[in-house]
Amino acid sequence: MITDPADTIVAPATAAGGAVCLIRISGPHAIEYSDSIFRGRGPLADAHAPALRYGTIVDADGHTVDDVVISLFRGPHSYTGDDTVEISCHGSQYIVSRIIALLTAAGARMAAAGEFTARAYLAGRMDLSQAEAVADMIAADSQAAHALASTQMRGGYSTALHSLRDKLLRLCSLLELELDFSEEDVAFADRTELRRTMESIGAEIDRLAGSFALGNAIKEGVAVAIVGAPNVGKSTLLNRILGENRAMVSEIAGTTRDTVEERRNIDGVTFRFIDTAGLHDTDDRLERMGIERTEEAISRAHIVVQLAESADGFFDMELAEGQRLVRVLNKTDHHAAATLPDGIIAISALRGDGVERLLEELRAAVDTRALYAGDAVVSSARHRAALEAAGESLRRAMAAMDEGLPTDLLSEDIRQVIHHLGEITGEICTEEILQSIFSRFCIGK
Ligand code: GDP
Repeated sequence: MITDPADTIVAPATAAGGAVCLIRISGPHAIEYSDSIFRGRGPLADAHAPALRYGTIVDADGHTVDDVVISLFRGPHSYTGDDTVEISCHGSQYIVSRIIALLTAAGARMAAAGEFTARAYLAGRMDLSQAEAVADMIAADSQAAHALASTQMRGGYSTALHSLRDKLLRLCSLLELELDFSEEDVAFADRTELRRTMESIGAEIDRLAGSFALGNAIKEGVAVAIVGAPNVGKSTLLNRILGENRAMVSEIAGTTRDTVEERRNIDGVTFRFIDTAGLHDTDDRLERMGIERTEEAISRAHIVVQLAESADGFFDMELAEGQRLVRVLNKTDHHAAATLPDGIIAISALRGDGVERLLEELRAAVDTRALYAGDAVVSSARHRAALEAAGESLRRAMAAMDEGLPTDLLSEDIRQVIHHLGEITGEICTEEILQSIFSRFCIGK
């Protein structure tokens, strides 16, 4: 079992190094164990929750460990749904470990990664997609990543899925009613109407699955590969963008043998800039390896910035669907940019001219309107796989209907669609899936 509800669990909920630390205890004996080490105005057991209590933590010999503030919650009105006590103490690692040792001596057990949130999910306080968003919320490093996680955590995405599920259940019940009356050869479900409903559900499933490209880029950072021949100024451009001397700059061709990756936030979106080894033919083994990494970086990039020193230096590149190519002519301080073909941005990486325009162009390539409007956007590969499986089953159901296959087959395919959507919200879930999701959380969450 992922968590035994009979256990009372404890863990620090804040990282080391701050002025104050929070220790969380949750489970059936949370209040009792806390009372055994807390001295305040009166026992926590007598307090009306939610409550705040000031007092001291004392060890078995009656020595004071620290002055603390306790927040008390009683189940089901707590994060986990169980009785929960949160101790705010001074942010010393010694104090934190002493208090935790006293609580484990009283009978509590150290919580596993994500165990508090796993309990919240099992207690029905949130569905699985919301629980996953808690980890995304903690990891969010930009306005866009925060908007994405926040919509999902507050249930915007679950609402979209539940509405799809309700529509599918209605379809199923109509079809199953027909099966009950199969002797009488009646069709309760008008097939044209049925098809229209299925098409609209299919369009919504496809839209959600399609939003993964945006969601994933926002969560992981939009990958921008800077590519071009040796010496065109790739490292200089990266340094200019980052405003620091991150990548090694040299006049010797082939200096950047490995890929260098750095993050920068542009107008609320995190971009990952990847400086690559120059693309050219070489017999040098080390350089060849660098070029292979470049090719790999290109294949994983959302945007490829192709840098050249002259307008005829741009070469054709085969990009995958959804990848964007931005062509940039560098060193315009050196040679005045002649009339440039459309869409090419002229810059001087050395002096900085045109670099702001390039950044605006990159930012404009990422359409975040859906995120800020609170639309459901998928950012987890697990959810995308479930949506694709749901779409597949729905298409099978539509084909079955077009071929006039029996109602029970049709209904079975629609049940499959419901099943796959249920995998996202956790109505359908295995122990292994839960383990793998919550083990990626931090301790104390
Ligand atoms: P990379 O091999 O593509 O990464 O190129 P580097 O960034 O190492 O630059 C190669 C040389 O070109 C260095 O001497 C840079 O100072 C120079 N360089 C880069 N950008 C510019 C620019 O905008 N103007 C001029 N004049 N020189 C530049």
